[in-house]
Amino acid sequence: MENKPAISNFIRNIVIQDLESGKHSEIITRFPPEPNGYLHIGHAKSIVLNFELADEFNGKTYLRFDDTNPTKEEAEYVESIKEDVKWLGFQWDALYFASDYFQEMYERAILLIKKGLAYVDDLSAEEIREYRGTLTEPGKESPYRNRTVEENLDLFERMRKGEFEDGTRVLRAKIDMASPNINMRDPVIYRILHESHHNTGDKWCIYPMYDYAHPLEDAIEKITHSICTMEFEDHRPLYDWFVRECEMESIPRQIEFARLNMTNTVMSKRKLKQFVDEGIVDGWDDPRMPTISGLRRKGYTPKAIRNFCREIGVAKNQSIVDEQMLEYFIRADLNETAPRTMAILRPLKVIITNYPEGQVEMLEAENNPDDPSMGTRKIPFSREIYIEQEDFMENPPKKYFRLFPDNEVRLKNAYFIKCNDVIKDEEGNVVELHCTYDIETKSGTGFTGRKVKGTIHWVDANHCIPAEFRLYEPLILDEEEEEDKHFLEQINPNSLEVLQGFVEDNMKDVKAHEKFQFFRHGYFNVDPKHNKDDNLVFNRIVSLRSSFKL
Ligand code: ATP
Ligand code: MG
Repeated sequence: MENKPAISNFIRNIVIQDLESGKHSEIITRFPPEPNGYLHIGHAKSIVLNFELADEFNGKTYLRFDDTNPTKEEAEYVESIKEDVKWLGFQWDALYFASDYFQEMYERAILLIKKGLAYVDDLSAEEIREYRGTLTEPGKESPYRNRTVEENLDLFERMRKGEFEDGTRVLRAKIDMASPNINMRDPVIYRILHESHHNTGDKWCIYPMYDYAHPLEDAIEKITHSICTMEFEDHRPLYDWFVRECEMESIPRQIEFARLNMTNTVMSKRKLKQFVDEGIVDGWDDPRMPTISGLRRKGYTPKAIRNFCREIGVAKNQSIVDEQMLEYFIRADLNETAPRTMAILRPLKVIITNYPEGQVEMLEAENNPDDPSMGTRKIPFSREIYIEQEDFMENPPKKYFRLFPDNEVRLKNAYFIKCNDVIKDEEGNVVELHCTYDIETKSGTGFTGRKVKGTIHWVDANHCIPAEFRLYEPLILDEEEEEDKHFLEQINPNSLEVLQGFVEDNMKDVKAHEKFQFFRHGYFNVDPKHNKDDNLVFNRIVSLRSSFKL
């Protein structure tokens, strides 16, 4: 992996202090996804932060599945998350499932009951909400709040045994219904849910709530720095309360940072799942999705994503990152590594009328003019070629330097050609051009006789490979987002454009995920899902240029 100096941030400073003061001799962080969807670019920010922090100080990072909610979680998500973390370049020191701690969590809940710090409440969910109060009004105590320890132990045991229906009772922490922090107003710790769990099966019908489970998970694993997003800042007193009152030996410290938000990007597993479920995209790995698997299929590299995550930094104040910043990093990476080649996305046939019929010559082309070490390749040239439709205009405006009647342009790596005739179909559409070439102007021979203003790209029509090109735009555009509209009603109708064209003939053996720079069109990735017998499919990763500056 890149050996870049670590970028300083407030969490790193806390870690340095804790190591220097001797509070910890080794730090342990964790990445704790809930397996209820695929990871997205926001998760990458957390992954890079947690893993690189521990790496830098020779600590450890665990991958922990926060699988305490059986209704939304699936084994498929567990597998995809593991794959994505590894693909990003990280290896966890241990893999844990929060559900493995259900027994311990249950026992610690009994401890709370015995200490008089938890009670079984028979209020309905709606009543609990009403009793909770508001930011300006204190809450009201439940009539069940002062049950005896014996009664609570008995009811909780019967909850566990499955004697009660879903939603009829909960276990709550007994803290302070008048606390200015609503999270401290007797939060629910356990609920009844007769539901199979992907890991524990039907062993449990009571499940712990996030606010109770998470601090215990961290403490059980001896996590030193538990990094989460800002929404949990107000939950920190509760986090500390559970660690203390459950008498955990190891005391983790919760630290919050601002989550990643990005322009034109939906960043929530729940919403992304809706795109998938409603068939708006072609699965979680659709290249328009901001998921790690979508970015991978589009053609992003782990290195570009890591560099992006480092550069956006870690802070407490919320901000929205321009999606062009992510594109900046993939361009920077591929600019160095992707071979240059020619592809025609919207073909227009050109006949070079003075080129001998049946003749084919092999021309030399550089794979990267900026990097001679990437070598050269041979490309065939003959009497028939394809150029881009947009590189010809019958009635061009001023300053149009590409092909038009009687004008001469350079074919990249080949010859000058001049347009003599325009062939149209019955409706008047241009279907073919007749041109002549000048043998003196061959590329690489140092011809200086005259100059042309335009250079266009091409592929040989007799030696090329049909290919499909998929061009992407954001699924949702921020400008079109309206308060009262559901996000699914704001889908960008132009998020995918599919074109049928041609690539150079030397690309017949390309493999899934090979990346190229197509002259003037941008960077493309060989789609991993296309069928071997079908045409090649290239996903556009990013166009070549942008006004974005870092
Ligand atoms: P989502 O709402 O998309 O499901 P989440 O926060 O509920 O996100 P988790 O699976 O619980 O998802 O998250 C795992 C870790 O990733 C958490 O520590 C969380 O703080 C972090 N994380 C999630 N989204 C972002 C984001 N946009 N930016 C930074 N970190 C994030
Ligand atoms: Mg979540």
